[in-house]
Amino acid sequence: MKQLFVIASVLFLAACANSNEKNEVKKDTSAAAASMPMQAKYTADMVDNQRDPSCGMPAKAGLEDTVHYKGHVIGFCSKECKDAFLKDPEKGLTAADLKKK
Ligand SMILES: [Zn+2]
Repeated sequence: MKQLFVIASVLFLAACANSNEKNEVKKDTSAAAASMPMQAKYTADMVDNQRDPSCGMPAKAGLEDTVHYKGHVIGFCSKECKDAFLKDPEKGLTAADLKKK
């Protein structure tokens, strides 16, 4: 009878350890998802502008398109914003809020 109790305890502990492990994995996954909330093609770290020069949206919100202009990599939330920038790039550069290097 005593032996049975020991076996039951071991099984319980093993089950406990397993569920803890599962929780850890779940936590890791959600943390990774939280740091990358958007399914954007480009991230703010990949471009030199902090704002979409055409619509003023923060680059951190996710970028769908980029353009290289005068050694800068400018990110845009959409192709439409990129097209608008290309019509007047000099004005756009001011609005892009370029990162200081
Ligand atoms: Zn935009």
